[in-house]
Amino acid sequence: MKLLEGKKCLVLGVLNDKSIAWGIVQEMANQGAELCMTYLGEAGQKRVIPLAEKLGCKYTLPCDVSNEEDMDKLFADIEAKWGKLDCMVHSLAFSDKNELKGRFSNTSMKNFEMAMNISCYSLIGLSRRARPLMVKAGGGSIITMTYYGSEKVIPHYNVMGVAKAALEATVRYLAVDLGQDNIRVNAISSGPVKTMAAAGIGDFNYMLKYNELNCPLKRNVTIEENGKTAIYLLSDMSSSVTGEILHMDGGYHVVGMKDPTTENIEIPKETVENIEASKEISENTKKPKKI
Ligand code: NAD
Repeated sequence: MKLLEGKKCLVLGVLNDKSIAWGIVQEMANQGAELCMTYLGEAGQKRVIPLAEKLGCKYTLPCDVSNEEDMDKLFADIEAKWGKLDCMVHSLAFSDKNELKGRFSNTSMKNFEMAMNISCYSLIGLSRRARPLMVKAGGGSIITMTYYGSEKVIPHYNVMGVAKAALEATVRYLAVDLGQDNIRVNAISSGPVKTMAAAGIGDFNYMLKYNELNCPLKRNVTIEENGKTAIYLLSDMSSSVTGEILHMDGGYHVVGMKDPTTENIEIPKETVENIEASKEISENTKKPKKI
């Protein structure tokens, strides 16, 4: 039996075929889900519609989550077409990429507000609108995507680390608030994956290599694995799981120190240049070394 057979599912966050949401939505289609995919702007529409068609999904709608009217319209459309909703995938985040490098204390108020709004508040705004439709379905499952930079400081992750910490707290508060409606809310804390959003993070390739060498499974995760984990959380396989932050990171989060048996990796040239170019770096900061 397919795990999402007959389930009406909304997926926000596909940008291209590298997106984590693309890994998730493909697996949802394999598991029999009826899908609605959203896109951001005209550029998003051009990319998402051909991908949706590959899955036989003709139902795509625009949604910029920083716009309340867009969210209202999205759920009005879903109500008119389906009358109910079983699952929602929230796989989106945004920050000015200039603030995903350099000193965290330079985070601007404008970008802080934007990053928190798009990356965290949107889950609240979307869940509030999804609730009545999920009640009509007898309950539902909502998932979002987070990263370990919410728990520990990861170089360059900066404001996104704060936004992800707030997102994880939001998962817990929503899980309690919506539990009475039989709606479950969970997050997948994925290891690093090379996507468009990740490309904005300073030295992302270094992060990827470090993760691969030092996590217990000694390899990076894939969007297909995110898809399989999402099916567990979206389907009845996890019927008593809510408020959970499920790490899907090859075990990286349990490791407290670099694996001494793995090779050393060079600090990327870009980091060295960034540090040297920064006039604000402390006089006492030593030049980066091999670690
Ligand atoms: P991606 O660039 O493929 O997806 C990001 C999505 O966010 C895009 O579809 C984009 O259109 C959407 N988005 C941005 N601003 C929006 C707005 N205002 N309204 C609606 N949508 C908006 O990158 P991804 O890595 O697949 O990111 C998906 C999620 O996974 C994000 O929450 C990200 O933080 C999280 N995540 C990524 C990684 C990683 O290493 N790539 C690891 C852990 C968690």
